[in-house]
Amino acid sequence: MSYRIEVDGEICISSGRCVAEHPEVFRFDDDEVAETVPGAPTLPDDVTLRLARSCPSSALLVFDAQTGDEVDVFAS
Ligand code: SF4
Repeated sequence: MSYRIEVDGEICISSGRCVAEHPEVFRFDDDEVAETVPGAPTLPDDVTLRLARSCPSSALLVFDAQTGDEVDVFAS
């Protein structure tokens, strides 16, 4: 399976964790809210799941890249 990760900017609390851990994938926008870097590399699935689980506001959403379905990162 391959995952795609997105930031829900409405609930990101700007902790900076994702940006610090993977600056090639995440950055802050002008409002200091995390967003994905256009054209960012795809992280390995285990890294994607771990990162999403570690977001303090659960703002990192994971989707199945093929079906587009959201993945429950705590059940995967
Ligand atoms: S880890 Fe979560 S709360 Fe922190 S900057 Fe990233 S998306 Fe926002």
